[in-house]
Amino acid sequence: MMAPMRRAILAANWKMNMTLAVGRAFVEELLARPLPAGVEVVLCPPHTLLHSLGKQLKGTSLKLGAQNMYFEESGAFTGEISPLMLQDAGVDYVILGHSERRALFQEDDGLVGKKVAAAMARGLGPIFCVGETLKEREGGETLAVVERQLSGGLAAVPREQAGELVIAYEPVWAIGSGRAATGEDAREVAAFIRRFYRDQFGREAEAGLRVQYGGSVKGANIREFTGYPEIDGALVGGASLKAGSWYEILQAVGQQVSAP
Ligand code: PEP
Repeated sequence: MMAPMRRAILAANWKMNMTLAVGRAFVEELLARPLPAGVEVVLCPPHTLLHSLGKQLKGTSLKLGAQNMYFEESGAFTGEISPLMLQDAGVDYVILGHSERRALFQEDDGLVGKKVAAAMARGLGPIFCVGETLKEREGGETLAVVERQLSGGLAAVPREQAGELVIAYEPVWAIGSGRAATGEDAREVAAFIRRFYRDQFGREAEAGLRVQYGGSVKGANIREFTGYPEIDGALVGGASLKAGSWYEILQAVGQQVSAP
């Protein structure tokens, strides 16, 4: 059973997909169905949809997330978007340090750390991603890699701001591959993340930390992960692009959290 104290959180990472019309139709379709109680649901569309979806989601239980941001508030940073701008669009969460940002756009732990701290200082909830490549897993380096990413990503977070953070464990080899991690492997890393956070920020802060698993999650396998008390939800790419497959995931977790 999922730990009753922390609220489950499911986040949809639409990546570079969806036009405004398609995104708005998705939201309409989702809102026409009963959304599960006890599960926080976050939609992370591309930046161009944020303002419009922010208005559409107002007054609903759905939350809005962005997929990236820069750490400065404003200035000569062509092509970037700031924490202030995300807040202005009604954003609650922001995905930071996704492996695609790290691999394709050379984001390192130092840069991710500045972004995490800037988001928290602005009151945006980071969904801070960590995870190893296949080579690193096969080399037995998984926990060392995750530890390095956690150290860098959380280095600039002041102790008094810790808590209320979401960390997504996303093994790179499981993302978009159809090959999810086993529940037990994900649990081991989630437990490691929790220990790291407790050691760095204390037991009280750890109570506010939620850990997601991400990597080829769908309705048929989500409960293998959320069945562990260390795992509070998932960050989902491919299966979040259609309202139907996304809803299957919401329902599966909704039934799990409401089971006696
Ligand atoms: C992701 O991109 O964060 C992700 C988990 O993708 P997928 O669900 O498609 O593996």
